[in-house]
Amino acid sequence: MPQNDLRELYIDELKDLYNAESQLVKALPKMAKAANSDELRTGFEEHLEQTKEQVQRLEQIFEMLGESPKGKKCKGMEGLIEEGSEMIDEDFDGSVKDAGLIGAAQRVEHYEIAGYGTVIAFAETLGEKEHVNLLEKTLQEEKETDEKLTELSEQINSQATSEAEDYEEAEQSETEPTLKKQQTTSRSKRRVA
Ligand code: FE
Ligand code: FE
Repeated sequence: MPQNDLRELYIDELKDLYNAESQLVKALPKMAKAANSDELRTGFEEHLEQTKEQVQRLEQIFEMLGESPKGKKCKGMEGLIEEGSEMIDEDFDGSVKDAGLIGAAQRVEHYEIAGYGTVIAFAETLGEKEHVNLLEKTLQEEKETDEKLTELSEQINSQATSEAEDYEEAEQSETEPTLKKQQTTSRSKRRVA
């Protein structure tokens, strides 16, 4: 493939990522708002700040290239965000909802990891070392976010299971509904702490 064509493809892929990240800047506050666990909400908020920086890094690269970052719609990200908002609207509560939000968010991170892997390979081939450095920073953040989400899910998935057990127990023992209610309350307080 002639270098010029690869450069064109590289710019196209960067535009796609720029659009993907910009869509995320709008979507992440909604994910944060829907999260029940404080830790998950903070995680989304922190990644929002990182995502804004990632947008700026891409803008820096476009400036070096003398190109506009605009002009592409990332349909992949559009679909993933749509699935995320379906999860927000889903009838799940508490930790189960959080487990679903984590699943949606990890799909996004994996999609980004794939996208950045591609542009980094192109930038290396094209000898754009400064671009590689900037893109590697973002790739690292996406990977760390994915790992954090995995850690959070371990905790949240087991909470989701025990919440379901509480609910079943409460349904079975109609004699002590108040006690069950208290237990559920103290559990959710512990989760917040
Ligand atoms: Fe990102
Ligand atoms: Fe990300």
